[in-house]
Amino acid sequence: MNLDLNRILDAGMEVAQSVKDAAVDLADKGKKQVELLNAQNKLARAQRQLGALVYSLIQSGEENRELVDKYVQAIAGIEAEIDRIKAQPEFTAAPAAEKEIRHCPQCGAEVEEDALFCHRCGAQL
Ligand SMILES: [Zn+2]
Repeated sequence: MNLDLNRILDAGMEVAQSVKDAAVDLADKGKKQVELLNAQNKLARAQRQLGALVYSLIQSGEENRELVDKYVQAIAGIEAEIDRIKAQPEFTAAPAAEKEIRHCPQCGAEVEEDALFCHRCGAQL
């Protein structure tokens, strides 16, 4: 009787433990997702600022290579951060439903979903 009870208790503990593990996995995964989203937002912001900077420089016929380079370096850093986050097992195991990949109708290069021009051939998209 006592033995049976112990076995039942043990089994119950195992179930409880695996439920807890799954919950921790989910929480971890959520944290990584948030980390990735934050990095992607940061990237989008830096890219937008760089775009605005280049636009205003060209508009006014000025150059500020130093500042442009700073943005380029910052963006490269954020991209590396995103690659690092995506390389973690949580992301490589099951690729999140990726946005549909868009291709340039002229040269077939993979282009950003909202790109106005192809980065390879310059075709209007
Ligand atoms: Zn193209």
